[in-house]
Amino acid sequence: MNTTDIHELRKDPLLGRWVAVLDRPKAPGDYSFPADTDHGDSCMLCAGREKETLGDILSIPRSGDSAGKWWTRVIPHFAPVFRVEGDLGRRGDGMYDKMNSVGASEIIIESPDHAVRPEDMGLDQMMRVIKTYKDRMADLERDARLRYTFIYKNSGSEAGAVYSHPVSYLASTPIIPKRVKEELDGAKQYFAYKERCIFCDMIREEIRTGSRIVLETRHFIAFCPYASKFPFETWIIPKRHHCAFQDITAEEIEDMSFILSTSLQKLRQCFDGLSFNYFIHSAPNRIPRKDHWHTLGEDFHWHLEIMPRLLRTSGFEWGSGCYVLPTSPEYAAQYLREVK
Ligand SMILES: [Zn+2]
Ligand SMILES: [Zn+2]
Ligand SMILES: [Zn+2]
Repeated sequence: MNTTDIHELRKDPLLGRWVAVLDRPKAPGDYSFPADTDHGDSCMLCAGREKETLGDILSIPRSGDSAGKWWTRVIPHFAPVFRVEGDLGRRGDGMYDKMNSVGASEIIIESPDHAVRPEDMGLDQMMRVIKTYKDRMADLERDARLRYTFIYKNSGSEAGAVYSHPVSYLASTPIIPKRVKEELDGAKQYFAYKERCIFCDMIREEIRTGSRIVLETRHFIAFCPYASKFPFETWIIPKRHHCAFQDITAEEIEDMSFILSTSLQKLRQCFDGLSFNYFIHSAPNRIPRKDHWHTLGEDFHWHLEIMPRLLRTSGFEWGSGCYVLPTSPEYAAQYLREVK
């Protein structure tokens, strides 16, 4: 590999946050690009154009002679930030720390159909998407170099979507991202103090009070968190305590498909054309290592967070880390409960 192909991970010495610095610096003019350039017949992610991508990492095959031979596909990212090859190359740089951005960057194509929205793809297809997430996470957990696998979705241009085809992304990193680390540390501290999982306590509290619940199913609740960062923020969390998403059962996948589809449909009923992100927070790689903590299985509890992009983040949020909620989580949950 040419050294110019290696992206760097640099650690912020003040906050402990890692950033990926790409190897080919963009010039100022490169930052203005037209949005949504892949409409209709120019989309490489559509069924029938498989040969133009780099080959499947995984796919769920579709039988019969219908258009397209697959239900979901996972392909390498066209511009990967993290690459599977090579070693971590941890090193100092004066007072700073850096390493190679070893990992995985993948695109999960959620449907052969270009125009389908995730909330309209149907429960069977949503189940295949969730199963695909599970299989990729389980596979990447076997690589001891990787600390964390993150699955996320950008829907709509306000949410950073580049393709109009329905896709999610996977990023597997040699570090635990800061936002995840903060959750892990918070959960660990709560467990050390109370000997209970904070998320299980939250589920009990939300079911007891009921005012922030959007939907409850046999295995999950969807609710607007007590101190949400954004209006109409919705979390989907399994009632069964488990730290890792990839241990989800077949029955839970079926139930999650329903609660995720329904939650997204409800958000769209409230806001037509809504842009949103969602992501899964699961346990870090559980292969034992030097600083492995042994209560991880007890103190962390996986969940999915949906972030509607209704507001632009202002200087206040960027500079202070405080957030302003123009709609309380109780009102947001009430609106979402009442729409069909
Ligand atoms: Zn397409
Ligand atoms: Zn729990
Ligand atoms: Zn979370």
